[in-house]
Amino acid sequence: MSTPLEIIIRQLITHNGSLSVAAYWSLCLSHPEYGYYMNRNPLGEEGDFTTAPEISQLFGEMVSVWIAEKWREIGSPKRIYLTELGPGRGTLMLDILRIAKIVPDFSTSIHLHLVETSPRFRAKQAETLKDYHVTWHDDLSTLPDDAPVIFVGNEFLDALPVEQYVFQDGKWFERMIGLDVYKNFTWGLRSSRFDFDPPPYQDRAVLEISPARESVVLDLAVRLHKQGGAALLIDYGHDKSGYGDTLQAVRKHQYANVLKDCGEIDITSHVDFGKLKEILEQDGLSVHLSSQENFLKRMGIEMRAAQLSLKSQEIQSGFHRLVDPDQMGELFRVMEIK
Ligand code: SAH
Repeated sequence: MSTPLEIIIRQLITHNGSLSVAAYWSLCLSHPEYGYYMNRNPLGEEGDFTTAPEISQLFGEMVSVWIAEKWREIGSPKRIYLTELGPGRGTLMLDILRIAKIVPDFSTSIHLHLVETSPRFRAKQAETLKDYHVTWHDDLSTLPDDAPVIFVGNEFLDALPVEQYVFQDGKWFERMIGLDVYKNFTWGLRSSRFDFDPPPYQDRAVLEISPARESVVLDLAVRLHKQGGAALLIDYGHDKSGYGDTLQAVRKHQYANVLKDCGEIDITSHVDFGKLKEILEQDGLSVHLSSQENFLKRMGIEMRAAQLSLKSQEIQSGFHRLVDPDQMGELFRVMEIK
């Protein structure tokens, strides 16, 4: 049985030719009617995947410590626009705001803005954050610009699409999605005029580039230059650019086929933090990359976990999932921008 979105995409390919990975990805996740993020409640045990804030309150508490530190560094302004990108169920923000109350001046300076495209997630965020005043945005362009801004985004960048290029027989090709004789989606290659970095490349090397992610960080940069502030972006990925196919789909906590059941699977890829850092530094910003383990320890997670785990075994296990290098501690990277 085809999903409604498969029928739409099949028609598009029949009429207009094969789609780039980025175009297919955008349709799968963000089609206004049938896109994965528009329709589903993907997060948590009953959903398709779990994220750090859903695992433990410790995560949001440490992010709150970081935000308070940046607020102080920029001179404890009376007003800041705390802006979250892709807030999911609103859990991270709820934990941030709870801990922020420890420093009343900081807490009252916060004006809350959420950038979220999905109506379902917006409804969930409104429910979670019902005690706060929230303004939603479809993208960054409508955010206010008359005070400093602090951005946070956990597993936001990985939702933005990548293009893939393959080096074969001495040339680069773009990886495409077309139809086989049975009208099933299939991988293909289209010749490409691109020429990346100096050769030699290994045959069949795959290069992923993400104009969508690059454009978001450049938008953040414009805001930081103009308004002052800082940004914290957390995702799984790598600090050094490299080659390799990192595209993956998940459904119900299991890996799934990227080319099957579109609209019902989540598609992501590793974030090339090395490339984003290079772009931001060229733009005059200061960027620091670390592992999630190092970041959370620097913010004091060990002490907080010890304090709370006297009351709860769950805190202890959440701590280990977030920090241990064989769990999320190493694969997840933290990018601090100012
Ligand atoms: N940060 C949350 C959720 C991560 S899932 C957490 O850690 O639990 C990705 C989130 O980004 C969802 O809220 C999704 O709806 C949102 N999203 C995906 N693409 C987006 C886009 N282009 N603009 C704004 N939000 C987007």
